[in-house]
Amino acid sequence: MDPLIHGFTRMALAGCGREGRGFKYRSLSMTIHGNHRRDSSSTNPSFDVVVVGGGIVGVAAAREILLQKPHLTCAIVEKEPDLGCHQSSHNSGVIHAALYERGLANKVQDMRVIEKSEISSVEKYCVGIKALHSPHTGIVDWGLVTKSFGEDFKEVGGAIIFNYELSSFSYGDSNATADIAKYPIELISEDKKKVNAGYVLCCGGLFADRIAKLTGGSREPVVLPVRGEFLELVEEKRYLIQGNIYPVPNPKFPFLGVHFTPRIDGKILVGPNAVLAFSREGYSYSDVSIADCMEYLRYPGFRKLALNNASFGVEEFFKSMFLQLQLKKLRQFIPQITAVDLKKGPSGVRAQALNLNGELVEDFVFDGGDESNPRILHCRNAPSPAATSSLAIAQVLADKMFEIMAK
Ligand SMILES: Cc1cc2nc3c(=O)[nH]c(=O)nc-3n(C[C@H](O)[C@H](O)[C@H](O)COP(=O)(O)OP(=O)(O)OC[C@H]3O[C@@H](n4cnc5c(N)ncnc54)[C@H](O)[C@@H]3O)c2cc1C
Repeated sequence: MDPLIHGFTRMALAGCGREGRGFKYRSLSMTIHGNHRRDSSSTNPSFDVVVVGGGIVGVAAAREILLQKPHLTCAIVEKEPDLGCHQSSHNSGVIHAALYERGLANKVQDMRVIEKSEISSVEKYCVGIKALHSPHTGIVDWGLVTKSFGEDFKEVGGAIIFNYELSSFSYGDSNATADIAKYPIELISEDKKKVNAGYVLCCGGLFADRIAKLTGGSREPVVLPVRGEFLELVEEKRYLIQGNIYPVPNPKFPFLGVHFTPRIDGKILVGPNAVLAFSREGYSYSDVSIADCMEYLRYPGFRKLALNNASFGVEEFFKSMFLQLQLKKLRQFIPQITAVDLKKGPSGVRAQALNLNGELVEDFVFDGGDESNPRILHCRNAPSPAATSSLAIAQVLADKMFEIMAK
């Protein structure tokens, strides 16, 4: 393999750990660290496997691929200047213990039902009728975990190409040189930079459906961007919350409800709610993309969802606008909380896959890797808690890639 090549100018760009929006950087440069080779018939860097998307799912999968098969060359291409800039760093930061329907079946450690009288011994200021206590549910900074997976990946020879917004694929001529036969897929970025690959794994999060369509994938499921807005408890009132507090989930929308979530940095977040975002990476009401809105408004699945859940959508919208409405819900759990104890917190946008029937898709969806698309696999849906299960998902994705490569 070639030695490290730093073939492109590096640009210092602001990091992406900030809250809210801030990702309008254009792709001005491409930086490659790690092992790769140059296709002898072109100047394109070439890799056995290219992973599109440097969120926790893509990075964990790329890491797993190289840990299992270190002789391969592998790169991650990411449109932002850092790893984990979107869902993977804009989330609740919870290591979920699979409580919803699988907790008991999976023997989640020390999980038990506690009675009303016992609740205050676990959460002094919390009230309720009954509760599930899961003492081993944890918290973490998933953005940092993503970066740490990225460090592991680089240590085993992986290359990371930042500021690379994939915009199209093309296939090389199978009668061409041996190198093109080995790396037949050409990935082309918005600013026309090219990378060649033998095989491609796409983990594009909020853009997973659009990337799948680039290779002839089906239109559905469509990604609906759903923004989750958090409130934050003021510092003087953080003592009210010791651990994570969740309401009983609504099976239709299990990710919702007024969660109280302590963060690694000591903050206490409340929420998130769920409101329709006006752009794929719409972290606030002012982030609007007419094209993104038109795309989902035209989708029959969205119209069915809206029709069947209009009252729910309206309620979430009003809760987003009027603090008092959220407060009412919060006080059912922590009666001491008042409006002055809360301030606006960060937000995240969830890639919510939606099928043609207007149903939210709750499981993973894969596309490609078959006769129609033998060298490209798409992970089209990686729903919450995909950060918690990223290492397990990575194993599944690596196995699928190895199967495809063995054909
Ligand atoms: C509000 C909220 C709270 C959540 N809370 C939790 C929690 O507490 N615990 C938990 O386990 N999970 C939680 N989740 C879910 C979890 O964050 C996501 O399931 C997970 O981060 C998905 O990772 P990903 O890699 O698929 O997507 P992303 O992190 O969005 O990564 C996709 C990457 O692809 C890149 N990309 C897209 N298009 C292109 C392109 N054309 N070219 C190059 N790169 C591209 C993007 O820039 C991005 O970096 C939460 C999610 C949200 C939104």
